[in-house]
Amino acid sequence: MTPEPYRFPLNRFMSDKAFNRIQKFSKNLKTPCLVLDLDIIKSKYKELKKELPASTIFYALKANPHDEIVLLLNDLGSHFDVASTHELDQLLRLGVSPERISYGNTIKKRDDVEYFFDKGVRLFVTDSFEDLRNIADKAPGANVFFRILTDGTGSDWPLSRKFGAHPDVVYSLILKAKEWGLSPFGISFHVGSQQRDIGQWDEALARCKYLFDAASEAGIRLKMINLGGGFPANYLEQTNPVINYTSEIKRFVEEDFADEHPLIYLEPGRSIVGDAGVLVSEIIRVSKKTKSSYQPWVFLDVGKFGGLIETIDESIRFPIYVDKAGKEEEVILAGPTCDSMDILYEKFKYTVPHSIEEGDRVYILTTGAYTQSYCSINFNGFPPIRAYIIK
Ligand SMILES: *Cc1c(COP(=O)(O)O)cnc(C)c1O
Repeated sequence: MTPEPYRFPLNRFMSDKAFNRIQKFSKNLKTPCLVLDLDIIKSKYKELKKELPASTIFYALKANPHDEIVLLLNDLGSHFDVASTHELDQLLRLGVSPERISYGNTIKKRDDVEYFFDKGVRLFVTDSFEDLRNIADKAPGANVFFRILTDGTGSDWPLSRKFGAHPDVVYSLILKAKEWGLSPFGISFHVGSQQRDIGQWDEALARCKYLFDAASEAGIRLKMINLGGGFPANYLEQTNPVINYTSEIKRFVEEDFADEHPLIYLEPGRSIVGDAGVLVSEIIRVSKKTKSSYQPWVFLDVGKFGGLIETIDESIRFPIYVDKAGKEEEVILAGPTCDSMDILYEKFKYTVPHSIEEGDRVYILTTGAYTQSYCSINFNGFPPIRAYIIK
């Protein structure tokens, strides 16, 4: 099935005011560059917190680790989910308390566990006996939570298959953790990034409930459920607003844990920062491959290696805006590097005004998450994308 070409009203993604501010701010900046609006990040954080006031938010740093974002979220009271000693060092440098940090990567070196523990971190995720043994040895007495496997169904960017273990394994890990002197604290999962099927949380929560009960029968009282990330940003593919997610999640928790509510932890990344970014790019060339081709190629000065890696398989469809009017035509969009995989969208047809030409600016919206942090260092000599903050 060939998808329909698509052009959108800009304000489905960003208010005219916010966009105009970014457009003005970036007018004389060299492209490509990423402009991040901190007000939007602030309102996304506050919205989630308002909907789930009793929860603790651990911002997933990998989505966008810009210092200014960390400082803002730290001020707002956010906690942080980190995956490496490098991320930990950054947070400590910026004054984040280790009590607000969770080591949320199940794939970690034994020495790194020790490093986190020495720096004061007491919250660790695990999904295997080998990792649990390392934690018991190098982070004695720490709180551990156990990640269950989910399959990522319904998400546009599944990341789940690699992490987590079957509930039967998790049950054994819980018992072992206690035996090895750790404090079994809770269960976590991640339903896949940009998850459009809210029901996925229901299924995962039912598994948590099963494990809470099984642990309780073995005399272990788990206290926390970590619902992971997966909340959406606003891309072309329409999703429910975050409030639909939170109200459903509240209902699922209420159904499964009516007697005693567990602590709820969240690890949002994409939904906090995605909508706050605009990648400002420039058209290098508009050309046709054959005299009779129907769709021209539009080559931008940013592509897969410059931060748009999530266009792999055209998984994430960014809203792309050109400030021109006129008759529209379908185009193929590609990046500037000498790698033939550096094509952004070919199957899915974007339409742009016929009048576009070399040197025109192209605004790629909803690029606040997983762009700068995914950028290559100097493929073809292109430097990593520069980010600018608007406060
Ligand atoms: C990437 C990641 C997140 C953030 O996921 P989003 O879909 O961006 O919200 C949360 N938790 C863990 C463990 C992750 O790896």
